Amino acid sequence: MAGLRKVVTAFAGVPGIIGLHGGLPPATAFPIKGVTLTLEDGKKVEIDDPIKLAAAQQYCLTTAGYAPLHEWAKRHTWQMHSPPGEHDLIITPGNNQTIEVVMRLLMDQGDAMLCEEYTYPHIAESMVQPQGYAAIPLAMDAHGIIPGTFRTHLQSLRDAGQPLPKLLYTIPVGQNPTGAITPLGRRREIYGICRDYNILILEDDPYYYLQFSTAHGGEPKGLTDLGHSYLSMDTDSRVIRLDSFSKVLAPGLRIGWVTAAPKLVERIIYHMQGIHLGANSFTQVIVSEVLNEWGPAGFDRHICSMQSEYAHRAAVIQAAAEEHLTGLADWTKPAAGMFLWLKLLTVSDADEILDKLKDAGVVVVPGRFSHCCGPKHVEQSPYVRVSFASASHEELRQGMERLGVTLRAAQAAQG
Ligand code: PMP
Ligand code: PLP
Repeated sequence: MAGLRKVVTAFAGVPGIIGLHGGLPPATAFPIKGVTLTLEDGKKVEIDDPIKLAAAQQYCLTTAGYAPLHEWAKRHTWQMHSPPGEHDLIITPGNNQTIEVVMRLLMDQGDAMLCEEYTYPHIAESMVQPQGYAAIPLAMDAHGIIPGTFRTHLQSLRDAGQPLPKLLYTIPVGQNPTGAITPLGRRREIYGICRDYNILILEDDPYYYLQFSTAHGGEPKGLTDLGHSYLSMDTDSRVIRLDSFSKVLAPGLRIGWVTAAPKLVERIIYHMQGIHLGANSFTQVIVSEVLNEWGPAGFDRHICSMQSEYAHRAAVIQAAAEEHLTGLADWTKPAAGMFLWLKLLTVSDADEILDKLKDAGVVVVPGRFSHCCGPKHVEQSPYVRVSFASASHEELRQGMERLGVTLRAAQAAQG
């Protein structure tokens, strides 16, 4: 028998229909009677239309999202990725929570998820470990997952008669914490391997729009030349792609979207009904109004300005690293996202210098906290993650200087 959602949505669009089905507070009783948004250029967007004000304060009736925002996301995603398989899309409260939902729906306790060896810290600490899952670390380099080792790993599981993992979690652009971008050739190979071993791909891509040229004075890319996503090659509907407004608009809005096989999207909707009933209506209306005010050209301009901001920050930290860390650390120049991943050359474990860094007045994340199996799994990790996203340019320079001074002092102490 169809669920309540299906029964009720079958009535949608019936002319003159009277809704006596929902437990919805009356729109006339909502307290907010108007909203004014002021954008960067001083332009004001007034939300005073009763339909929009009601939508902003009401339950989001479809769970798929506020219709104008949902339509924007669908049009935009199909323009950017032209998914070749069967896919559907819904608005979400951001990628973080959607990762957790997808894991819950696709995995059983004791199941293992394939991950880049170093990955988004919340995966181990807040998702894998508390839910009783396991993570399988995949060898990676400056260009992400190494396909050959990935295939060998799966083949050895198959040869040993062990169950194959169902899900690969990957951050293909501006990888957190390494900053790596997985190149197209590798993505094609990884997709092919996942097809051979029937593995679904959870493509978490919050830094997709934050790709920049590393050439001095390089032009921003805008919305073109951002590379081929896993979604764009997904003839099998095995990719679950997560997009987020967190890094392009603001993380406090808590808005993103997921594109996946229609059956899985339907299950995500049911699951969201069991937790928060969908993304916050108020912020969905606000985001939709901002995008509408900008139009496609304005969105592109905004993306360009974000790319320039991050390109500039990356150049500042890169120059400071060259000045203060040469001979003390190795790194790859970041071309996306917000992280510089340093391999310390003079200490074998980043924890050794943590107290000294505190004295010097700079904080970075020791690499082991990003390990997909959790920090306790790693005895020693020479890596540290440095974010160039929020400190001022001067602080970025000073922070790197303090890191350099600390590393040099540690080296001198070792004799
Ligand atoms: N519990 C009950 C008994 C309800 O009727 C509702 C709303 N219809 C909820 C919870 C959902 O509450 P909230 O809007 O705070 O998520
Ligand atoms: N995934 C990765 C790899 C991240 O680095 C982050 C934020 O730092 C998130 C997801 C969280 O995204 P959202 O704000 O959309 O929940």
